Amino acid sequence: ARKYVVKNYFKGVPKREDFEVVEYELPPLKNGEILIKTEWLSVDPYQRAYNMMNKVPYDQFGFQVGVVQESKDPKFPVGTKVVTHKGWCDYTIAKDGVPSGPVDHVYALPDLKGLSPSLGVGAVGMPGATAYFGFLEICKPKAGETVVVTGAAGAVGSLVGQIAKIKGCKVIGFAGSDDKVEWLEKELGFDKALNYKTVDIAKALKEAAPNGVDCYFDNVGGEISSIIMNQMNKYGRVAVCGSISSYNEDVSKMPKATILQPALVFRQLTVRGFLVWEWYSRWQEGFSQLVDWIKSGQLKTREHVTEGFDNIFDAFIGMLAGENTGKAVVKA
Ligand code: NDP
Repeated sequence: ARKYVVKNYFKGVPKREDFEVVEYELPPLKNGEILIKTEWLSVDPYQRAYNMMNKVPYDQFGFQVGVVQESKDPKFPVGTKVVTHKGWCDYTIAKDGVPSGPVDHVYALPDLKGLSPSLGVGAVGMPGATAYFGFLEICKPKAGETVVVTGAAGAVGSLVGQIAKIKGCKVIGFAGSDDKVEWLEKELGFDKALNYKTVDIAKALKEAAPNGVDCYFDNVGGEISSIIMNQMNKYGRVAVCGSISSYNEDVSKMPKATILQPALVFRQLTVRGFLVWEWYSRWQEGFSQLVDWIKSGQLKTREHVTEGFDNIFDAFIGMLAGENTGKAVVKA
């Protein structure tokens, strides 16, 4: 079998030399274990962000959809499609119910009602659960409210904006290219999308949301988030999902952030960070709603597909640089 091992702590943008593809012999299956052949792999921002929290070297974790090739667990017969968090490997052995946390679990691919199995690492996988629970549980959107989402054309952001539309909100999205902006407005039905690289963010937001912002789903952090929070209404809610604008930066060298406390106090904002794992026991509930929305045409999904196990690194770097519209996935 082959797997990607991370050898180093990344400095800035991860480099190919930081990874090594290791060939190794898989041991025979023990009771309760299954052998999985990888079909779809995920490249995600947290694979960059978690690097400093791990002890190098480590196997590159991540979600994957695979098919059971051999089984010593009657719950997963040969041929079952499963989702695991075993990462960038072509074959792997997994075991259900590991008590150390959800990251080791295996679950059967949700019933996708004929949709592509690749959605199991995207809109009907961890990013889908992030958008669904992070937005609905923390922002608690009400019809007629104004919602802003950053990273709006990505895996999570594109779903958040569409869920907000389903809930009857006015939606404004920020993304990093004119093509993405056009996709958000023309295909996904965002009320307004803005290219954060070319507009005057404060001015453009004031024009797009003259009555202020009620909910902010923050995928990127940094100064844009301070600007948005300074335009929020009383009792606004902020779901802090990620801060990709700083993942590749040396934080000690970044410009000082705007002091936000006056905005938080005088606007009486609720700001709540979250990890999608906190709703792990409810993911399937979210997946079944997301599948229904996709099937009914209310939710559109798009994937940026890279072909081949050997090209995972390029897919990862491309995603960090914003090459993806929708979910970045790799077909093994
Ligand atoms: P995306 O599909 O959105 O891909 C990453 C995108 O980030 C790129 O396409 C790029 O789009 C954007 N980006 C890159 N650099 C910058 C920058 N300097 N400033 C602003 N945007 C930038 O990834 P995901 O949807 O998977 O993840 C989105 C966020 O959600 C990340 O911060 C991630 O860490 C977080 N997350 C958090 C989870 C949780 O449990 N809290 C779970 C899953 C994801 P563009 O062209 O627009 O710049």
